[in-house]
Amino acid sequence: MSTRVIDLHTHTTHSDGSATPEELIKEASAKGARAVAITDHDTVTAFAEARAAAERFGIEFVSGIEISAEFSPGTMHILGYCIDEDSTAFREKLGELRQAREKRNPHIADRLQSLGLDVSYDEVVRIAGNDVVGRPHFARLMVEKGYVSSIQEAFDRFLKNGAAAYVEKARLSPADSIALIHEAGGVAVLAHPYQLRLSSYEQVDQLVAELAGFGLDGIEAVYSRHSAAERASYAEIAARHRLLVTGGSDYHGSYKPDISIVKGLGDLEVPYALLEAVKSRAAGRSTRTHADQLQEASS
Ligand code: AMP
Ligand code: ZN
Ligand code: FE
Ligand code: FE
Repeated sequence: MSTRVIDLHTHTTHSDGSATPEELIKEASAKGARAVAITDHDTVTAFAEARAAAERFGIEFVSGIEISAEFSPGTMHILGYCIDEDSTAFREKLGELRQAREKRNPHIADRLQSLGLDVSYDEVVRIAGNDVVGRPHFARLMVEKGYVSSIQEAFDRFLKNGAAAYVEKARLSPADSIALIHEAGGVAVLAHPYQLRLSSYEQVDQLVAELAGFGLDGIEAVYSRHSAAERASYAEIAARHRLLVTGGSDYHGSYKPDISIVKGLGDLEVPYALLEAVKSRAAGRSTRTHADQLQEASS
């Protein structure tokens, strides 16, 4: 088993994964990972436990985040790596994103109830058992109550964009999502580009050119649900715009039961060299914004 592989896209119980930070690190270690990034949605609360576990298992921990940006027709997520989670501006904006979620979430429960499903938001919160509640927690409750037979079916029939219980949440623009990550000294990467639902290579290329203008640093070309052809074509687009390539599984434990950490659908192999490039890009970026420095100097 190679000990050079890594996984730069994973979710814990602190957002919509089913593994605790410690369980996740242990699992990654068992799969031969040399480094793992935790990229929970809108929160960094997994880091302390993950760092301690990573030290115990002899794995390199990479601080990460996943931000949902405004985009249509599909979904745009921006990953951040090597972020300084103590950045004041960063913490404040993450708090606002979590508030936007909390504003949306009860409306999803209302929609489900009006469709005749006995699903209360309190029950969803109990399932999530943590600070960041996401649609997968609604899906889990719907499975438990027998309304659907899988999390995927809950999305397909009720929760996905365009379905009857889909409710928009306030998001940052792509430019602001990238700026947020840069404010924390991080490297900004376009996640799983197949989810953008753009229909041609040219459309993706054009969008990437625009995002590169906003400071995008990389593209997650190597991804569980990308075919070999997609991985190659997204990597080519990254190279055309002098961007990094990254890779990860998007492990969510039982919330995405077909995806294993490190291995993805079985064929994932993200080389450690990709992380080295991310780290050198981050090293060239200040971890403290000017505003932070002023605030510290005056306090
Ligand atoms: P939220 O951030 O609460 O809107 O939930 C987004 C999360 O739901 C994503 O990160 C995925 O884990 C999951 N998700 C979104 N769309 C789908 C889909 N069509 N099928 C399965 N899971 C999905
Ligand atoms: Zn998720
Ligand atoms: Fe995502
Ligand atoms: Fe993700």
